[in-house]
Amino acid sequence: MEGLSVALKTACNKGLFKGVLIPGNGPIISHLLYADDALFLGEWSRSNLKNLARILRCFHISSGLKVNYHKSKVFGIGVSATETVHWANLLGCAAGALPFDYLGVPVGANMNLIKNWKPIIKKIHSKLSVWKAKTLSFGGRVTLIRIKNALLEHGLDVHDIFNVVIESGKQTLFWYDSWLGSGNLKAKYPSLFELESKKRCKVSDKIEDSNHVWCWKSRPVDLGLDSAVFALSRDVTDTRLGTSLDHWSCKLSGDGRYSVSYLRKIVDATNVNIPETSDILWCKAVPIKVICFIWRAVQDRIPTTVALEKRGIVVNSKQCCSCIGAPECTGHVLMDCPFTTMIRNNILGWCGLSNAQDCIKNVYDLLHLAATRCNSHRKRERLVAICYGLLWNLWMFGNKRLSQMEGISPIQGTDCIKSMVFFIG
Ligand SMILES: [Zn+2]
Repeated sequence: MEGLSVALKTACNKGLFKGVLIPGNGPIISHLLYADDALFLGEWSRSNLKNLARILRCFHISSGLKVNYHKSKVFGIGVSATETVHWANLLGCAAGALPFDYLGVPVGANMNLIKNWKPIIKKIHSKLSVWKAKTLSFGGRVTLIRIKNALLEHGLDVHDIFNVVIESGKQTLFWYDSWLGSGNLKAKYPSLFELESKKRCKVSDKIEDSNHVWCWKSRPVDLGLDSAVFALSRDVTDTRLGTSLDHWSCKLSGDGRYSVSYLRKIVDATNVNIPETSDILWCKAVPIKVICFIWRAVQDRIPTTVALEKRGIVVNSKQCCSCIGAPECTGHVLMDCPFTTMIRNNILGWCGLSNAQDCIKNVYDLLHLAATRCNSHRKRERLVAICYGLLWNLWMFGNKRLSQMEGISPIQGTDCIKSMVFFIG
């Protein structure tokens, strides 16, 4: 697409294609590209249209990328519909009319009217209303778990802070969401959930006025589950549906609204001293992927061959690929391997910490050293970056050796770590 952009710019400069001049000394816009969508804007003239078709043809020949004319449309602004249709037919595409939807947003509509903003508001609303945990990055998930655990230390369970308020019941899953007290109905009535024929049904599918609509695969009474159905019916019997959207409510505040400052006040009031579980410092200088790696390594959750075999994955050899002298486990790769020891000693020597070498027996010792050795914030961050960079690179060297059959010497490894941490530290 970069090539198409360059071709069009060149054509504009040579006067072969005339774009649209934006008023008030604005730029001339000839095209807009977004992902694999292309919008061409230009003067309505026979030569302009013909030249555009020629440019697209040249682009096709040179790049192999062809414009699908069946999916394309020509829009004429300030010209008659017949003329637009005439030119669209000549190009082999359809004629479009304003307003039209582009990326879900109306283009060419009168935006002074409320009704034209409605699809946009609806779109944003639907995007914001869905829980995004599935799309969180690994770093995002770690942050979420840390916040959840930190709140637990203060006696606050996230599941107890919020509850769903059922209005229309159309946004809430009957079995999966926790909308009745704590926990979901799937966990409370597992046998009935198994019998359910439409497992992802909404609350509104089940409750109509004061009646309940059940869809069982077979009759609960035949399986001796009639008492469970009775209990479930009793649980949902007080639910009355309205017309507005279901929403979340925060139990902590009186008005159901969640605010960070309110939660902060509660956390401060509990006044609990949280014990530091490990010396991992989440400093900004170190990339999140490196810190996440350290966090996983501390809990022995990195995919070493020993760990992979434990999980039933077939590995060619369990031996460490650097020294072939011991099984590849977290402790060996990051601490005990002779290759690792040499690089670590080099790096500690480089930091002027040669005397600390003997007291480092495991990863915790190294993290503890990084977290406590320096008093000044700046120096501590630098040492943390070096130690984390050391562990991260030791792991990456092993991976490289396995995947690309590319081995390096301890000297090369040391230099590589020095240059990396120079940038992050
Ligand atoms: Zn080894």
